[in-house]
Amino acid sequence: MRYDIIVVGAGPGGSSAALHAARNGAEVLLLEKRQEIGSPIRCAEGVGKKGLAGCGIKPDPKWIASEMKGAKLHSPSDVVVELSGELAGNEVGYVLERKIFDRELAMTAAEAGAEILMKTMATDLILDEGYAKLKVLTGGDKMELEADLIIAADGVESKTARWAGIDTTLKPSDVESCVQYLMAGVECEPDYTHFYIGPSYSPGGYIWVFPKGCSKANVGIGVQGSKIPRNEGGFVKNLLDKFIEKHPALSKGKKLEIIAGGVPVSGPKYETVVDNLMVVGDAARHADPATGGGIINAIRGGRLAGEVGAQAVKERDFSRTFLSRYEKAWKEDFGKSLERNLIIKNALTKLEDSDFNDLADSLSGYRFEELGLLGLIDAIQEKHPELLDALIGE
Ligand SMILES: Cc1cc2nc3c(=O)[nH]c(=O)nc-3n(C[C@H](O)[C@H](O)[C@H](O)COP(=O)(O)OP(=O)(O)OC[C@H]3O[C@@H](n4cnc5c(N)ncnc54)[C@H](O)[C@@H]3O)c2cc1C
Repeated sequence: MRYDIIVVGAGPGGSSAALHAARNGAEVLLLEKRQEIGSPIRCAEGVGKKGLAGCGIKPDPKWIASEMKGAKLHSPSDVVVELSGELAGNEVGYVLERKIFDRELAMTAAEAGAEILMKTMATDLILDEGYAKLKVLTGGDKMELEADLIIAADGVESKTARWAGIDTTLKPSDVESCVQYLMAGVECEPDYTHFYIGPSYSPGGYIWVFPKGCSKANVGIGVQGSKIPRNEGGFVKNLLDKFIEKHPALSKGKKLEIIAGGVPVSGPKYETVVDNLMVVGDAARHADPATGGGIINAIRGGRLAGEVGAQAVKERDFSRTFLSRYEKAWKEDFGKSLERNLIIKNALTKLEDSDFNDLADSLSGYRFEELGLLGLIDAIQEKHPELLDALIGE
């Protein structure tokens, strides 16, 4: 039971890492603790077309629930800012069926030669002998596996990185605590995602309605962990329930599924390589701090880790120094946008409802050529220059 590389976790990050490591000649084992890849989903399933194309993934009707023309942002006073495809510079996308999408990704890894072990949970890791010993529980049996390299892709709650001595602690303010319903029988525009932003909707986060076709939608909320009152276990779900009650287009719908989960919004905080180990995806805090979206960065980071991992196998060098090529690569690829969006998130979480109303007022009807940070700043400067201090001045 010895492999070149063992990848822990078969989410988008892990499958992408396994695919690219196997494709580049490494002997790879991909472990997943659940009995089914992609289920239960803990995701609103939205991705940008550009992001997917950048990962080299061609859209496939099998895993596309619906195609989006744009997004609508609602302020607390319900001023709506429309970011259509035209305005948003084709920054439009899809709502996925992640149960199928994740499985397809894992399948491409298998086709490239990776082995997959389901219902197999990593329980401990020892790294001090120049290679990795990974303890697992597989179908209830204890087993020890060995590899030259571990890729930790075990999501927001990653223990694998912690076993490797990396401090993965997240402060409550660094996590969005989310609850989401899959609802049927709702009335919503089939080709627009909707975001409700402002502390009265969600302190430090937002509410989303992502249509999935056939009157279905993911209706969810993310609240900044530090803004959840103590001893208020049901706070996040109650906020979402109240929102749904107030919106007749949603309240007549039926809830088919409820999920809860955390999104790391700390931005990249710690080193993502040590000797014999690399960390990818949510485990590496690669989700976007401003939007909470993490699918694309998990796939991109997974690819980079897989490629560097396969190179390490060829050169028989699993040292931190060699593996830091991966860290350098992801920083060059999406590190800057994570840093920038962390600043934006930190600024946005300080704003009140009235600021969001002013902000929406600034943006509605403004013809910016392309949706981007500069266009946004121009729009605010023109209509509400005082808000710029709150957003970027401090
Ligand atoms: C409510 C919610 C809504 C979201 N909406 C969006 C969205 O619309 N768009 C977007 O881009 N992102 C969204 N995200 C974030 C997105 O889901 C993640 O960023 C993405 O799934 C990260 O991929 P990953 O591979 O790093 O981790 P994950 O997808 O979390 O995969 C980790 C895998 O590791 C497995 N695992 C964990 N521990 C072990 C172990 N010890 N042994 C073996 N296996 C293990 C898990 O079972 C899991 O399958 C959302 C997240 C939440 C919670």
